[in-house]
Amino acid sequence: MKEVILSQPFVLALALNNYDPLFGVNNINSMRRLDGDAYKQVTKFIETSARGSVIVLSGGEPFLDPRIKALISSARSNGCGISVDTWRGFEEQHPCYNQIQQIRLRLLSLNREKHDTLLDMNGSHKKAMAFGNWMLKNFAGEKILVFPICSENRNEMPKIVDWCRRIDFYPNMFIIPYKHRYALKLEDYPEVTTQLLALPLQNVIIDTPLLGLSGWPNLCSGGRLAMFIDVDGGVKPCPYFPYPLCHLDGDGIAKAWRCLQREVANLNANCSSCSQFASCGGGCLANKTEFGEEYYCPYNEVGK
Ligand code: SF4
Repeated sequence: MKEVILSQPFVLALALNNYDPLFGVNNINSMRRLDGDAYKQVTKFIETSARGSVIVLSGGEPFLDPRIKALISSARSNGCGISVDTWRGFEEQHPCYNQIQQIRLRLLSLNREKHDTLLDMNGSHKKAMAFGNWMLKNFAGEKILVFPICSENRNEMPKIVDWCRRIDFYPNMFIIPYKHRYALKLEDYPEVTTQLLALPLQNVIIDTPLLGLSGWPNLCSGGRLAMFIDVDGGVKPCPYFPYPLCHLDGDGIAKAWRCLQREVANLNANCSSCSQFASCGGGCLANKTEFGEEYYCPYNEVGK
């Protein structure tokens, strides 16, 4: 099947700051904010070319940034959808909730102690649950519960799905990247993917491209539909990719998007000759080794 090449990202995700204890920055005083020039290029894209696109305000903790209100307002008046990722690392409620179509709240465990230990932040579970309750009563848009699967919480998947059903959230599960301190062990990965496929999958969002090998169509959208901009203007396929592949150098989103498409194709160059490529799309880009191999792929000799 021929791949459709988009001339601009359908999903533009950006980090308004990098305050995120799960991915390394657990002190609000040492967080960095999105570079002013990168912010200007994003706003220009929204005002001129983004109609019909989705803008994802991702972490860090977007609700901490004073620019969020203006950004959301501009995106809405220019015909974009808005999705916001939060781990509830903010204190004040925001006046802009009614303009957001989707909020994605991250939870690492239903168990208070485990969640707080994984985030290394006491009281975080209580705050996340309180915000989830607030969303249930007050937020009219789509409610997503993001559950990053790691070695410490992998046995909670069925409970999370069941819990989300009861409280009217969609569960979104993804396996945390292989270099993360809580990443699954190589030998545990097959068992976890088998457990994922055994879940009642209706209305469960699973971001695990290798499940394509088991018949669950799940291609990665990074560099195909989606682009992520980090706080320094670095361009990546998604927030979890470990280093920037391109940079917003002042020539705007369209040029950075073409660069990202090329770099993702390069990362997938070896996989593209594999007989399974149409099923898994090369797997998870955040799990690619320096040789372009998917760390967790059972076919590590590409094309075998
Ligand atoms: S080698 Fe690449 S394309 Fe082939 S199955 Fe593994 S990840 Fe997929």
